[in-house]
Amino acid sequence: MTAVNQHFLELQGSYLFSEIAKRRTKYMEQNPNADVISLGIGDVTRGLPPAVIEAMHKAVDEMVNVGTFKGYGPEQGYTFLTDAIIAGDYRTRGIELGNDEVFVSDGSKCDVGNIQEIFSTSSVVAVQDPVYPVYVDTNVMAGRAGSFNSELGRYEKIVYLDCSAENQFKPSLPTEKVDLIYLCYPNNPTGMTLTKDELKVWVDYAIENDCIILFDSAYEAFITEENVPHSIYEIEGARQVAIEFRSFSKTAGFTGIRCAYTVVPKELKGKDANGNQVSINELWNRRHTTKFNGVSYVTQKGAAAIYSPEGRAQIQELVQYYMTNAAMIRDGLREIGLTVFGGVNAPYIWLKTPEGFNSWSFFDHLLSEANIVGTPGVGFGQCGEGYFRLTAFGSRENTERAIERIKKLSI
Ligand code: PLP
Repeated sequence: MTAVNQHFLELQGSYLFSEIAKRRTKYMEQNPNADVISLGIGDVTRGLPPAVIEAMHKAVDEMVNVGTFKGYGPEQGYTFLTDAIIAGDYRTRGIELGNDEVFVSDGSKCDVGNIQEIFSTSSVVAVQDPVYPVYVDTNVMAGRAGSFNSELGRYEKIVYLDCSAENQFKPSLPTEKVDLIYLCYPNNPTGMTLTKDELKVWVDYAIENDCIILFDSAYEAFITEENVPHSIYEIEGARQVAIEFRSFSKTAGFTGIRCAYTVVPKELKGKDANGNQVSINELWNRRHTTKFNGVSYVTQKGAAAIYSPEGRAQIQELVQYYMTNAAMIRDGLREIGLTVFGGVNAPYIWLKTPEGFNSWSFFDHLLSEANIVGTPGVGFGQCGEGYFRLTAFGSRENTERAIERIKKLSI
């Protein structure tokens, strides 16, 4: 028999959302008439913006004619899209980027998962706890995590940055030498953010301590507060130390269409085995062009349409729709005395489970008593125990019905 990659066997249990699906299916089998509302998985529910649909239709028509047909495109993305990204998402905030610093892909999940490949397997990785599980699991697969300590519920070689209500889900700086720091703001799952001054502390730390920040801002479009940075490059010096990940998934309803991008500035450097400087941008370009053949032309045309005046207005409406849901969930939970975080700059509401419940027992209680599916906080890490995530991505009607049901719960 052929030996397998042993590190894959170090992955823990089933992925959070498959366990949720399993419990939901079991409940439905036992209660076939239950009207279950899902505020669990972070998938969008509204249709694509009309400007996107129109652009995609046009692009499909172009595919019919020999003169306008498109085959393989540039692996890094067409310049019509990277130009639009740079002008729309960065120049407006005083940030200049080159087209060769933006890499279009088919999703941030792949990007945040793949990025670790270009770093040494001996790199020390720091993650927030609770954490988007992809950061940890992809480092486990690569052999950077060490063995799993089941008593602590943690991998021995990963540095966990604890986040809790006590620190408002803003972790302290690492106390040991790390090489890669994953930061996710606005945060999934907690829905919390850092201010510019707070993010500056991380950038300064990375500069002083020779580490790289992997900044996942998949939820940037949901920021409503003035002092919250939309890009890490708003912070001076960040180009030397940060890679930024953005996605059209939540911003524009692209979870099924698939399009995202990663920014890797030219100033960002690593070192080879002899200590010589290596361009991270060049390495990522090599990785991307070797393993990826580009996002479809039709999809990229759809993504570029988001930056037109109509597209912009339509995605703002979309974001507003979900953020109204978020406010309703926040207010509803507060009304019944629950402690609630997030939901102001992010479509996630993170609540402290009521007295007597842990994350999974609250999941079961909510499912059986209110027929609502949420996400147990402990699924995102040890520090998530005692918390629970609800998403604002449902329809207005389902969100209203869910809140009415929650208000009637005995907790
Ligand atoms: N990053 C975070 C923090 C997410 O929550 C998600 C999706 O839920 C992703 C990345 C993945 O986004 P995409 O749909 O672009 O793969």
